[in-house]
Amino acid sequence: MKAVQYVDVESVQVGQVAEPTIQTPDDVLVRVTTSAICGSDLHLYRGHIPGMAPASIMGHEYTGVVTAVGERVRQVQAGDRVVGTFHVACGVCRMCCLGQYHQCIQGGVLGYGLAFGDYPGTQAEMVSVPWGDINLRKIPDSLPDEKAIFAGDILTTAYGAVQNSGLKPGETCAVIGAGPVGLMAVMAARVMGAGHVFSIDRDAGRAQAAESFGAIPVDSSRSNPVRRIMQATAGFGVDVVIEAVGGPATLALAFQLVRGGGRISAIGVTAEADWVFPLMSSLTRDITFRIGLANIHRDIDTTLNLLGAGRIDPTAVVSHRLSLDAAPEGYRLYHQQRATKVLLQVG
Ligand code: NAD
Ligand code: ZN
Repeated sequence: MKAVQYVDVESVQVGQVAEPTIQTPDDVLVRVTTSAICGSDLHLYRGHIPGMAPASIMGHEYTGVVTAVGERVRQVQAGDRVVGTFHVACGVCRMCCLGQYHQCIQGGVLGYGLAFGDYPGTQAEMVSVPWGDINLRKIPDSLPDEKAIFAGDILTTAYGAVQNSGLKPGETCAVIGAGPVGLMAVMAARVMGAGHVFSIDRDAGRAQAAESFGAIPVDSSRSNPVRRIMQATAGFGVDVVIEAVGGPATLALAFQLVRGGGRISAIGVTAEADWVFPLMSSLTRDITFRIGLANIHRDIDTTLNLLGAGRIDPTAVVSHRLSLDAAPEGYRLYHQQRATKVLLQVG
């Protein structure tokens, strides 16, 4: 079968690899229909995340059709349209029993290399999904793949980040980063009742695009975002900051934007080992700071319901629909920020 393989920094290829087969009674084989390129794939592409061996299959956002199930699988069967979670969990370990699926002792991230479980990725014609009962959801008939795919990662990641911030109706929110995840966070914050939502990006085009999602755009390449937001909030700062970039610069910005007693919820991925925490000011200003990988299993049924009810339509972020063969071009365009979200139409 065809699959997108990591070659080296800024290089992927479409190669021929062996089709996966059922290896355990919990595996589910899925014929992939759509896979997307995620901002997290860009970290691999840019060589920021160690442990991606050459020829490894990329990708973790996908929808597809079940073709075969292991003998213990009960929740899905051949012919079902499904969306998968980007990180996989066993469903039975102590962490999974606590609802902490992103902390599963045996789990990992599909297509994200040795440090994340060494699972083959989903930018391929077929994928074998471990523990298919817990890591797949059937897609309602009325929901197209193009919408459902967002529930497996970035919409649910963003929704979860807003949920983790404890946002209350009417509160003011700033989202740092207007990539696909930031735009999903804007949509999630609005659907969860936020008052004003600011969207900050250093790319003028991306900041501007956030306006069509209902945010107040802040182009941080042209104006100082702290000054802009302090002016707009009478010097108060925002109740909630969602950090959707990753790394020290935007984390530091989050602490400058949040009001005393406010909350920061960070989801941006970074390979930086550490960062100096603003301890004294956070203590005196009573700041709540939260960071972590998304717990997709916790929120995916909620986001599928929001999508099904038409409360959120993520398709406006899609800038490119390409064939699997064109994946290298998709990576290039996205890396250069000439694409916002690339969907690979596989089959
Ligand atoms: P993306 O690369 O498409 O977008 C990132 C955006 O950040 C870009 O628009 C860029 O211009 C902007 N940016 C970069 N540096 C900036 C700065 N200093 N100030 C302001 N804006 C800046 O990525 P994405 O798909 O939107 O994903 C965003 C982040 O979320 C990535 O780090 C991704 O890995 C992460 N992510 C995390 C999880 C999780 O489980 N925590 C899940 C999915 C994605
Ligand atoms: Zn992703």
